[in-house]
Amino acid sequence: MTITEATSAPSQPALREGKLFIGGVWREASSGERRDVISPATGEVIGSVAVATSEDVDAAVEAARASFESGVWSRLSGRERARIIQKAHDLIRERTEELAQTESADAGKPITFARIVDVEHSALQYEYAASLGHHLDGSVRETPANTHAYVRREPIGVVAAVTPFNFPLILSSTKIAPALIAGNSIVHKPASDTPLSSLLIAQILQDAGVPDGVFNVVTGSGATVGDHLVGHPGVDKVAFTGSTEIGAHAAALAGETLKSFTAELGGNAANIVFADANLDQAIGAVIGAFVFNAGQFCMAGPRLLVERPIYDIVLGILSDAVPGVPFGDVTDPNTVIGPLASRNQLDKVAGLVDMAVAAGATVVTGGKKVELDGGFYYAPTVLSDVTNDNPAVQEEVFGPVLTVQPFDTEEEAIALANSTIYGLASGIQTTNLAKAHRVAARLDAGIVWVNGWALLDPSVPFGGVKKSGWGREYGPEALASYQRTKSIVLSLDEGADQ
Ligand code: NAP
Repeated sequence: MTITEATSAPSQPALREGKLFIGGVWREASSGERRDVISPATGEVIGSVAVATSEDVDAAVEAARASFESGVWSRLSGRERARIIQKAHDLIRERTEELAQTESADAGKPITFARIVDVEHSALQYEYAASLGHHLDGSVRETPANTHAYVRREPIGVVAAVTPFNFPLILSSTKIAPALIAGNSIVHKPASDTPLSSLLIAQILQDAGVPDGVFNVVTGSGATVGDHLVGHPGVDKVAFTGSTEIGAHAAALAGETLKSFTAELGGNAANIVFADANLDQAIGAVIGAFVFNAGQFCMAGPRLLVERPIYDIVLGILSDAVPGVPFGDVTDPNTVIGPLASRNQLDKVAGLVDMAVAAGATVVTGGKKVELDGGFYYAPTVLSDVTNDNPAVQEEVFGPVLTVQPFDTEEEAIALANSTIYGLASGIQTTNLAKAHRVAARLDAGIVWVNGWALLDPSVPFGGVKKSGWGREYGPEALASYQRTKSIVLSLDEGADQ
């Protein structure tokens, strides 16, 4: 089905009912309050979850603290923890279909992508973390002969893991897996709009053998649950993924009690296509970079920079190809673009495109909401004639919207690419290897992809510079961010024990 043909209704999944998971026990919120979970594909209620209170957050932090202090997890060897994390990985794979269906229903993800991206990359995080469990080594330092010094890598304590709506399963896994293998206990708060897969993960971790209290989930709003959790004196580290605005607020809050803090924040990546690029490959990367997950991904490439000799050609190809990208019914295995995750997100994207047009942009294709089954659909949109100060260029749109700008020189491409407050990802499409290295070194970005987009591996660090974040997820860097260093120095002087 293409966007112009989209008509059929997604089938409605069974209602899903979620409780809080605290100390290994499922329970209602102390207030008894619940919040509906809405399907982005139909706008209908597909379930509900408990809305935690501050007291529930206190209980979850207490459970996490008690489990941490007891040593039931924190003092296991890395190898022992690795066996359990590996088991969690196995259970995720066994329950792929259930997880994928849940993620698709909750977040509006096309089912094929929910299986091969969301569940797959979540599983990879646990598998990779388990492998690190065999290498939680400290080090010995060369000091004068009368001392012996070694460095231990210890868990930090209680970790608050706060995640956004766009990749609930993956983004919880990128925190939970490394935090657990390091030996921490966790209180996890998923986004209000997409809480369901985190509850399945809680059950999976318990089934795998993670002791009660080590992993807890509290669902509820950012303003109450998130705020109380991030500022909680019983929390030692905050791992936050979300918008730059809320991330800065969370950083300030965590700073009041001097917590360890990492943040994966907003992005607005440039994708630079040089005239010497392999155009077939480049166009694939360009379209994937802005339509995947309906453009709701931090590492999306919504700013296309095209070298002037091929600018008109690329614009022509996009105007023909983009309307044909399979769009609509998330249960159809061929669908590539589903709805936005909420009505709020839909209105935000539509508003930004209107502002972009008012500022002079031309709509090459798309530029409108799509009425389909009551869902929150926005047509994949290409905008040309955008000046660099256009809001669609400078702000994170977080929808299936691409701006296209020409450039004349390598210097100009680099300047344009680096001209926003963000610095998460960037892309270069070229067949000139020397140019790829030269430009990659000068881009303000935590990761640069050459001749492709979103090439991710759990071993390769991922994170932002500028206002896109602090610290790194993925790789040994992620593990290190959930550990604290302790130096132990022994005097070997004879008689030291007398
Ligand atoms: P958001 O509004 O910042 O929310 C993120 C999380 O923070 C949610 O769980 C939210 O809860 C919670 N929260 C809200 N207010 C809070 C507060 N005062 N204290 C503590 N927590 C609070 O972000 P979003 O709209 O869900 O996600 C989209 C953003 O995330 C985009 O900017 C995107 O670029 C970014 N993102 C970054 C990465 C990365 O790796 N760099 C990855 C994915 C997404 P509620 O849901 O209840 O509001």
